[in-house]
Order: sequence, then structure tokens, then C-alpha cells
Amino acid sequence: MDAVHFSAERAAGVRLTSPAMPPSRVDKMLRRIGELLVRNQATIRAGQWVVVAIYALLVVVPAVLPLPQRTAHIWTNLTLFAQFVFWGIWWPFVLLSMVLVGRAWCGLLCPEGALSEAASARGKGLAVPHWIKWKGWPFVAFAGTTVYGQMVSVYQYPKPTLVILGGSTLAAMVVGYLYGRSKRVWCRYLCPVSGVFGLLAKLAPLHFRVDRDAWRAWRKPGGAKVSPVNCAPLVPIHDMRGGSMCHMCGRCSGFRDAVTLARRSPNHEIVHVTGSEPKPVETLLIVFGLIGLAVGAFHWISSSWFIDVKQASAEWLVDRSIVWPLEPLAPWWILINYPEQNDALSLLDGVVLIGYLLASTVIIGGALSGCLMAATRVLGRWSAARFHHLAQSLIPIAACGVFLGLSSLTVTMLRAEGLALDLAGALRLGLLTGACAWSGWLGWQIAALYARTRSSHFAAMLPLILAVAVAGASWATLFWRF
Ligand code: SF4
Repeated sequence: MDAVHFSAERAAGVRLTSPAMPPSRVDKMLRRIGELLVRNQATIRAGQWVVVAIYALLVVVPAVLPLPQRTAHIWTNLTLFAQFVFWGIWWPFVLLSMVLVGRAWCGLLCPEGALSEAASARGKGLAVPHWIKWKGWPFVAFAGTTVYGQMVSVYQYPKPTLVILGGSTLAAMVVGYLYGRSKRVWCRYLCPVSGVFGLLAKLAPLHFRVDRDAWRAWRKPGGAKVSPVNCAPLVPIHDMRGGSMCHMCGRCSGFRDAVTLARRSPNHEIVHVTGSEPKPVETLLIVFGLIGLAVGAFHWISSSWFIDVKQASAEWLVDRSIVWPLEPLAPWWILINYPEQNDALSLLDGVVLIGYLLASTVIIGGALSGCLMAATRVLGRWSAARFHHLAQSLIPIAACGVFLGLSSLTVTMLRAEGLALDLAGALRLGLLTGACAWSGWLGWQIAALYARTRSSHFAAMLPLILAVAVAGASWATLFWRF
């Protein structure tokens, strides 16, 4: 970290409510919600089992049913209904919930987390090995799942959904059974979307705030020892300064009179906390994963570049009498292969698809990294910590793009059911514009922490605005160019 310019005083930031101020009605209401969560853990667990049952039904049953006819509807066909629930509602709106209420989905409803914790309660309780704690997992797991999901068309077919979601759930249970005691080791280290959720939760206006002074000063009446809280995702609660790792389960609410469900500025964690805890894997995830790779994953299916490269490669092969790569030889669990649906990828398609995703990741991620590096350098001597801090400013545009990309499936499915959804285009434009403005504002605030002069602050904004423009334009081409 650039210790000279990133001062603790500037980084400390502001709270919406000062401890010296009397709590407002909203603060009191949030405190009561926190208390409700503590008191109703049994009910929450019962709710989680209901979600597990619905999840199992929607993941497993469609995989053994015949594929829907072209005349089938969401409301009359379980496979289409499950597809709509998983990819049209669940996935985009879980992402949105992260920005609104933090990782409450993880702590209160997620079936995978609940199953992993239940397995851990009855499992071997082994210590978590080093390979699980490898810091690169959030990016590798997200990228691997995204690429494989495109290769097998997970949004469209139920068997790949069973392989990816069911496989992930099975792995979560095995990891839970082996490691930790009543913990969510899988969620903390290995879940393919945990890193993404952690990034989005930084924008949430709610979090569990820890008052460290109250924590230290607290004594149990009578001096007896206090029993610790079981924080399943292994958050060091006394040290928690943000909502990124917290699953909002509420178990620690009120603990030692120091933990409170509270509101905060949605910018606070990114501007005032992440700078002192730089995580390169988060930069990889934002710049190369959530923007570079995700843009390619949403683009390729309708991309004229994809078709051009494929055709040119096919002609090159045919000219040399090499035709086997043009056949759909791989099974459905490696590449899309549904001849009865007239939907199959040849080996060449698969290679071009992977190349397209790789190119999108490298080109867009590289352009964004270049802009962030330039901004870092304008603000002083090179500092990797400052670079990673500036990268966090792109979280709103990354989150908005992924939400819009996923919700495009919602729109497509609802239009196929006869809903016009005329306002979808205007809403998309409004959301993208707002997300770009938010990212720009975060960039401005972060740069202010490091700028020595007003002119260097303004100069740093040029590459930062360019980065926001590159990210925004990459997402915009999904709806208005391809
Ligand atoms: S920090 Fe508290 S609210 Fe967050 S996951 Fe741990 S126990 Fe639950």
C-alpha cells in the first residue's frame, strides 16, 4: 500500500450514524431485525430445508424428462418452468439481492450452503487443508464454471444444469463432511460464485457493524465465560469491517453488545475499507472475470465475429480435406449435442468458442488493466495496492452488466410467452448509465484518497473514465450492436 498517501484518517470514512447520535427509527428497526434473526435460527433452518426440497425437485426432475416441445410454455412444462426459475429469476435476482441486502441469500436461503453446513455438523471435522485456502479459487472456480456452462449450454438444457448445480452441491456436501465442524468451508473458499457475491455485497447499504471498543470492553455479568458464536463461513467477527465475507445469517447480532445490523453508505466499504486489504484475486475477478469473460460468454452466441472466424476456419479445414473437426463428435456433457433439437457444436465450434471467450477476457481485461495502471501511475509511484483499490471502482458496472446479461434470458423467455416488455430497452439503458456514473463516482472518491494535488486527482480521472467507458461499451454491445 502507498503508506504516504493512503492515510488512516482519510480511509476511516464516515458512518451514517455516529455512536454519539441517538439511533433513528431506521436504526432501531434494523437492530430489531438483527434480534429477530438471532431468536429465529430454528425457523431459518426449517426454511432452508424447504428451499433444499424445491431446489432438488427443479434440478433433478427436468433432467430425466424429455426435452420440451417447441409449443410448450413455462406454465405447462416443468423443464421450462425450472429453466425460468433458475436462470430467469433465481440467478439474476440473487445477484441483485447482494447489492441490496448483502449476502443474506447465502446465510438465510442458499440450499448448497445449508447442505454443506448440515454435512459438516455430522462429518469428520478435519482441519481445512492449505490447498482449499488457495487465494486463486474465487477466480478459477468462477471462470471454469462460466466457460464450461457455455460449452454445454447450461441455461438451456436440464442435464448440464444437473451436472453443474448438482455437481457443485455434491462437492459442497463432501467438503462440508470432511472439513470443519458445523462450518461452511465450501462457501468460504471454493464456491464458484462466492467471490462474485463478496464483491457485490460490498455495495450493500446494510451490514453487521462491529464496535471494537464495545467488544473489548464487554464483560459477561458475573464474569463467566461467554460461549462463542458459530459463524459458519468462518468470518473473524471481532475484526469484521465490511460485508464481503459475512453471510448475514444474524447469529452474531447483539453479541457482546458489539454487533449490530446497521445501515451504511453503499460506497463506504469500497472507498474506505478495501484499500487497506488489497486482494489481487478480486481485481482478477472484476476486470477479467465479471467484465472480460462474462461479456464474451453473453456475446458469443449472437456474435458475427464468432461466425466469421468459424467459417474461415471451416473453409481452411475443408480445403485440406480435414472434415472430422466439423462433426459434433463430443457428448452433451462436453459440448452441446442435441441433434433432435437441431442444436450441436462441432469440435471446431468448441475450439472457436473457447478462443472467443479467451480473446474477450484478454482484450477487455487487458484494456481495463491498462487504464487502471495509468490511473495508478498518475497518482504517484507505482503501487499494486492502489491499483487493486482503483479496480474496485468498477464493481457497479461489472455487477450491472452481469445482471443485465442474465436478465436478458428472463426477458427472452417472457417475450416467448407473449409479454411485450416494451420498457426493457429503456430500463437497460438507464441501469447501465447509472452503473457507469456510480463507478465513476467511486473512482473519483478513491483517487481523492491518494492524490497529492487537485490536478493529479483530475488527471487520474481520465484513464478511470476511459475504463468505465470500455466496460460500459462492452456491455452495451450485447444489447445494441450484436
Ligand atoms: S459474521 Fe455474524 S452475521 Fe455474518 S455470517 Fe458470521 S455469524 Fe453470520
